[in-house]
Amino acid sequence: MSNPDRYAVIGHPVSHSRSPFIHARFAEQTRQSMTYTTIDAGPEEFAATVRDFFAQGGKGLNVTVPHKETALALATELTPRAQRAGAVNTLALRSGKAKSDKARAAHIIGDNTDGAGLARDLLNNHRVTIAGRRVLLLGAGGAARGVIAPLLGLKPAELIIVNRNVIRARELAERFSDLGKLAAIGYPDLGNEPYDLVINATAASLAGELPALPPGIVSAQSICYDMYYGRDETPFTRWAQQRGCARTIMGLGMLVEQAAESFHLWRGVRPDTASVLSELTAQLRA
Ligand code: NDP
Repeated sequence: MSNPDRYAVIGHPVSHSRSPFIHARFAEQTRQSMTYTTIDAGPEEFAATVRDFFAQGGKGLNVTVPHKETALALATELTPRAQRAGAVNTLALRSGKAKSDKARAAHIIGDNTDGAGLARDLLNNHRVTIAGRRVLLLGAGGAARGVIAPLLGLKPAELIIVNRNVIRARELAERFSDLGKLAAIGYPDLGNEPYDLVINATAASLAGELPALPPGIVSAQSICYDMYYGRDETPFTRWAQQRGCARTIMGLGMLVEQAAESFHLWRGVRPDTASVLSELTAQLRA
């Protein structure tokens, strides 16, 4: 019997990731022979570690914080949505007829499944309406890049990007300006007008921090979504609840949905996400 195909998630930090559990469940469900592990690599060793992984026969990687923008340059071919985003969260070895692992490792597809994952989670798992709503996106890093086009595709009344480094936010607003009503600002310019949906795509929760948010951006009608997920509420979801928002959501569903999209790219089969999401939710509550 041949060895199982090798996959992993690469990031820094990455030990908290639930992706190995999710992909193990997907593999069981769909009877795929594969392994999925975590690789902790900082910015200096990221490129070499990725190249090494593929040169040694690895089949695919998920790329997480802080490498999504750097990963773009490591792909030899980009899917249209990765190209549009300017960020990659999935790398796949292109299957082909090359004889050696070295030759095959020269063909790596870069995709971005974050946006599809967020849209599915919001629409299907949480029944959140985006059309005609005012949406505020916190952050302008790799995760934010991946979700802007899919969010605009859902026709919000407007999408405002806010970031500490305003230049990064402005770059994104320009990059996606052809897709809908979009603006970029810094935190000091956030007024006190409430948004229908506030999405935290910053890495602040990962560090136990809260972006500098004025209280008025959240009302009793606001839905507050943190892409970060964990056992406990995040500083952002706690903050939003204290301000009496309608509901808070953590990014566990997005994680499962984007994983399913990556799995489909790698293995050509679509796993069932609902059962894995409920198992994961129960695990976090236990
Ligand atoms: P990046 O490192 O690419 O970007 C980080 C972003 O966070 C930047 O916009 C940065 O602002 C901002 N930021 C960091 N700390 C703070 C802070 N204290 N206050 C305000 N802004 C801050 O990370 P990613 O975009 O890849 O990931 C962001 C988050 O999204 C992570 O927590 C990650 O776990 C989560 N995520 C979850 C997914 C899921 O499936 N649930 C999928 C993808 C991401 P600046 O530019 O000013 O430095």
